[in-house]
Amino acid sequence: MSQSCLHERSSKEEIEKGLRLQPKFDENGLIPCITTDVHTNEVLMFAFMNKDALENTIKTGKVTYFSRSRGKLWVKGESSGQVQRLRELRTDCDQDVILCKADIGENGASCHNGYRSCFYRKLDPQDQTLVFDGGEPLFDPEEVYGKG
Ligand SMILES: [Zn+2]
Repeated sequence: MSQSCLHERSSKEEIEKGLRLQPKFDENGLIPCITTDVHTNEVLMFAFMNKDALENTIKTGKVTYFSRSRGKLWVKGESSGQVQRLRELRTDCDQDVILCKADIGENGASCHNGYRSCFYRKLDPQDQTLVFDGGEPLFDPEEVYGKG
């Protein structure tokens, strides 16, 4: 018998000050997840989890998302090798966001475009254009995922 580590939402007091994980899934059954590098706290990516993805993340220690485009669970790194090994999982005050701190496998990239972080561009406040400052891509996406 496997019992879920996730609990039903209860009172505000329980959710904000209690000891149990009571995540709030939206009307589509999803909760946002931010993933950072456990060593540097660099923000690597943002994606959604559903209940299965969150349970799988906790159970297997591999960060698992729900792919909205593919409509299925997405164990990060399954095809690329850049597995995100969960080192710490947090939720915020009202438990409507998940924060995963992870060790990144292989070449350490998290973005499907080959960059370490998905946030590889910043807005230049003067020009209001995007500037690349996330370093060089760590892999060639075409090689890993194929063309198209
Ligand atoms: Zn990305």
